[in-house]
Amino acid sequence: MITLDTPIIQVQRIGPIFQKKLKKLGIETIRDILYHFPHRYEDFSNVKPIARIKFNEKCCIAGKILEIKDGRTWKKKMPLANAIIQDETGTIEVIWFNQPYITKTLKKGDYVCMAGKISLTGKGAHLSSPAYEKISATNNKLSVTNLTHAGRIVPVYPETEKLSSRWLRYIIMPLLTNLKNKIPEALPAKIIKENNFLAIDKALWQIHFPDSIELAKKAKQRFSFEELFNIQLAVLKERMLLDQESANAIPFNVDLIKRFVGCLPFKLTDAQRKSAFQILKDMEKPHPMNRLLEGDVGSGKTIVALIAALQTIKAGYQVAFMAPTEILAKQHFKEISTRLQNLRINIGFLTSKEDEFISRKLKNQTIEISRQKLLEKTKKGEIDILLGTHALIQDKIKFGGLGLVVLDEQHRFGVNQRAKLCKNATSKKKWSKITGIAIPHLLSMTATPIPRTLALTIYGDLDLSIIDQLPKGRKKIKTEIIPPKGRKKIYTFIKNQVKKGRQIFVICPRIEGEKTEIENPETKLKNKTEKKISPWANVKAVEEEYEKLSKEIFPELKVEMLHGKMTPKEKEKIMLNFKNKKFDILVSTSVIEVGIDIPNASVMMIEGSDRFGLAQLHQFRGRVGRSKYQSYCFLLTDSFSQKTRQRLNALITAKNGFELSEKDLEIRGPGDFSGTRQWGIPDLIMNSLKDMALVEKTRQLAKELLEQDPELKKHPALRDKLTKFRQKIHLE
Ligand code: ADP
Ligand code: MG
Repeated sequence: MITLDTPIIQVQRIGPIFQKKLKKLGIETIRDILYHFPHRYEDFSNVKPIARIKFNEKCCIAGKILEIKDGRTWKKKMPLANAIIQDETGTIEVIWFNQPYITKTLKKGDYVCMAGKISLTGKGAHLSSPAYEKISATNNKLSVTNLTHAGRIVPVYPETEKLSSRWLRYIIMPLLTNLKNKIPEALPAKIIKENNFLAIDKALWQIHFPDSIELAKKAKQRFSFEELFNIQLAVLKERMLLDQESANAIPFNVDLIKRFVGCLPFKLTDAQRKSAFQILKDMEKPHPMNRLLEGDVGSGKTIVALIAALQTIKAGYQVAFMAPTEILAKQHFKEISTRLQNLRINIGFLTSKEDEFISRKLKNQTIEISRQKLLEKTKKGEIDILLGTHALIQDKIKFGGLGLVVLDEQHRFGVNQRAKLCKNATSKKKWSKITGIAIPHLLSMTATPIPRTLALTIYGDLDLSIIDQLPKGRKKIKTEIIPPKGRKKIYTFIKNQVKKGRQIFVICPRIEGEKTEIENPETKLKNKTEKKISPWANVKAVEEEYEKLSKEIFPELKVEMLHGKMTPKEKEKIMLNFKNKKFDILVSTSVIEVGIDIPNASVMMIEGSDRFGLAQLHQFRGRVGRSKYQSYCFLLTDSFSQKTRQRLNALITAKNGFELSEKDLEIRGPGDFSGTRQWGIPDLIMNSLKDMALVEKTRQLAKELLEQDPELKKHPALRDKLTKFRQKIHLE
């Protein structure tokens, strides 16, 4: 007997090749495949007599195969199959292109139902590559009910991993039949009743094989709710568990912080103060902090984290400080070394690639020691603050007494990495085994403002601190949209800026790779397949832009380039040289997006700006305007569409990153906020993340449910589903 949890490998119809493809989509159990929803439907429910069908009309016919044979197309010699179908009213020719297997399944004398479009070509009217399904007939009476591929509203799935809709229907239909009335209801009865939702069994049928489009919509409503509700339960549960764990309370040492802040070369902004206070207050508690510090690029998050770090170190614990890239980690290492200069704090630096560059700051000396030694010292607790990249997440790195983990630019770490880190950082067993101490506090930071709906769902287990204020004296960056004809003027402007001693960033357009369109043989509808991005495509774009700028446009200026295929060493060197004003213009891919500080740069020129998300453009822009010089951001675009205009205009008018992120969510959907996809929310339901009312409602109901029944004892099916969900997102 099969259940929702039966692994798909036990489903006879699914062979090893398909198992692999499904696995790539994260589909491993029957539940997963039943929750792989169609993204649209094709209405083939209207079975018409052959005599009444019209040209170019999508329709469905049912009849007998009078003849069927293989052939080849005249010019290209492509295989084709021809058939003549007859019903009581007439006959029609059917042609399938490039589907040589058709004549193996369909034989003369078979009764069939076919759905597609009638085309008129030189050869006359014919039904072209229709979807088909064999049907039964008694006394010449055709039965067109309960079909899978035609004669009904037919589901069309996102055909990723080359899984055809036909194949998915062929798998899903019998599974649903098999599980009829056996699928446990995971939503509480009260919720179903109050919201007038379809019950699970019916909802699954109606989302895959709807009786009407209205019922499909109703099913979708239920699943949108259900998926969000599950996320809410998962994150709230996570929160509850964390609140039950113990952490080392880190006393709030007001004097220490005052002294440190007093020695800074600048005054903290109110927002920085407030955030730092919230963090220090959190860490005082004997439960692990899980806080997200959000603030625009340049708002000064590092120093806030450093205050938390200092407090932790002075209380006798260690700090792990992680950045998403080598360059950024290095920059932090430098800045933090300077800021902590006279405090007798040992700082270690560790990344995955640069094995040989491992240093320790001791009495203001940077000493290179072996990785082995660094790990030993970390384990003994002699390194107070260990900085680096993901390399710090490895299991072999052990701390003597880790008190705080800081994760910079947390959105750049995948959900899985984040989960692994949180798991590592918060798994009591693990820490108590290794160190005999409690769970460390976790401070994540991001410059990508998270829209409110997302903050309440996938980030709902975090507390938020927001720096919504830039340090004093920063000039507003002048932002302009530049159409092709404005290009020349910009080049002249850039030359002038360089004359004044400034430096320039040029960001190359994102190359999206070939969009290959393949024909869905069944419906002849064109389906976009997955976009394949060659990792070299962006490199090529940078190289071409570099050639153009250095040879044609600015032959008298010094131009360099940067892209993701360079080694960390190469990138580091370029950035360092740029910082030290060794050249004027840096042409780069989006790798510079994250946190590098080049105060002398005053122009950010973004080619193909319409191809980036608003939040990302905002981040690019944040690379300039970090000093007393007036800075500029030029958004170049070849697109004259109203939509592009409106979108880019938001960068000029928006007051802060939050506004932009909400817009991004509205325009591009949540898929752009890295990580959201990994939550395994079906595509069809992703959009419900835009729905504030739904998000708030699910959160409220999840909260109430957990308050009444924290272990979900009264809701076993839901508990089961939640456990599976949590496993999937690596919380368990
Ligand atoms: P982000 O929030 O993007 O990580 P950083 O922490 O890198 O920003 O800070 C950007 C720059 O601003 C750094 O050079 C930092 O030293 C400086 N800075 C931080 N806080 C202030 C402040 N209150 N006043 C002036 N400069 C500041
Ligand atoms: Mg930063």
